[in-house]
Amino acid sequence: MDSLVYATIKKITEKIEQNKDFLTDLDREIGDGDHGINMTRGFTAVLTKISLDDDLDISSTLKKVGMTLLSTVGGASGPLYGSAFLKASAALKDITTLTAPVLGKILTASLTGIKERGKAVKGDKTMVDALEPACDAFVFALSQNASCLECMDQAIAAAKLGVEYTKSIAAKKGRASYLGARSIGHQDPGATSVLIILEAIREVINR
Ligand code: ADP
Ligand code: MG
Ligand code: MG
Repeated sequence: MDSLVYATIKKITEKIEQNKDFLTDLDREIGDGDHGINMTRGFTAVLTKISLDDDLDISSTLKKVGMTLLSTVGGASGPLYGSAFLKASAALKDITTLTAPVLGKILTASLTGIKERGKAVKGDKTMVDALEPACDAFVFALSQNASCLECMDQAIAAAKLGVEYTKSIAAKKGRASYLGARSIGHQDPGATSVLIILEAIREVINR
């Protein structure tokens, strides 16, 4: 498999594990305290199912990741991240190298997958609040002929603002929505895991 793709999945897993308690603590405040646990379980399972020696193109790799997340993460985030990777897989048929435009396609398709599955829009205090601005920023930077790293930097800056924004709003989707206005003041765990994943991608691009 593409070594950059493999390194990225490995880095995502590493960073999710490092942030397991942080994500779980955030989820304890406005959910059921398992987001870090769910995500770590999912990506750890992914790493056991793929290897650098696999004869898989990018699309097939993303499909395997999506299927594994669907079957192991559980909770709301499992089907959502699962759909993200499956949608990205479907958007990348016949693509063999991970370039900036391909990464743009992956991010855009992931967002579509999450929105189709979860029906959340910006302002609902979900992963969409980090991923949508990140996608927009990436695609805009790409249109200005920015490098892949620059595109990713713009995406991450936008995702950070998105995560901050989730503190100021009440949840309208997911468990946190049961709290209504009491969810205000708390950072959304799913938006935070989106940011962590983007930061992992950036680290690998920057090598
Ligand atoms: P659960 O809430 O089932 O325990 P997790 O804790 O793993 O699942 O994930 C919670 C995160 O999932 C939330 O912080 C939020 O970002 C995201 N989420 C929940 N519902 C939706 C939805 N409909 N659309 C997008 N994201 C959602
Ligand atoms: Mg939870
Ligand atoms: Mg749960």
